Amino acid sequence: MSFSASARRVRDQTQPFGRRVMCLHECLEQFNLFGFEATRGRLRIMVGATRQGWTDNQLLDALDVLEEARQSWARFATADLAQSMAAKRLDRNHRGPSQLELRRVWLEGYLSGTRAVAWGVADLGECTKCEHLLIHHGSRRGCAACWASPDIDWDSRCRRRIPAFRRPSPHP
Ligand SMILES: [Zn+2]
Ligand SMILES: [Zn+2]
Repeated sequence: MSFSASARRVRDQTQPFGRRVMCLHECLEQFNLFGFEATRGRLRIMVGATRQGWTDNQLLDALDVLEEARQSWARFATADLAQSMAAKRLDRNHRGPSQLELRRVWLEGYLSGTRAVAWGVADLGECTKCEHLLIHHGSRRGCAACWASPDIDWDSRCRRRIPAFRRPSPHP
């Protein structure tokens, strides 16, 4: 099922609640910022889901946050695709960035300022092992930036995970 079809079901109050939660998980499988688990965990903190499960409002809030990110990514990817197609017309050998490279650039731009604070990733900085930003370390296989670099061989790819949700320390 597409992201938007699943999202519609999350909002559909006539569906059983457990079903709607599963539909949010479907959305998360199709789109996430740091892999399924880390994105879901952070969403729960963002909407104040401190007890087991979700309330109706928390579920809807989490979907709103996720959807906003997905729309931003879609806009970014489309704009870049158009640019890359235009470049190709001018230069036949032009090779556009891969999807993974695009994702990396988008995520770094998207998670800045108040949004980085909201997602608990402000001031995370770089990984001491691979030197890519820690926001790329969400997925189970480790650092997505390492995976996106063709010149980093399989064994050298960083397997570290993104640190837990962190509220920024208040600046004096
Ligand atoms: Zn790393
Ligand atoms: Zn890395």
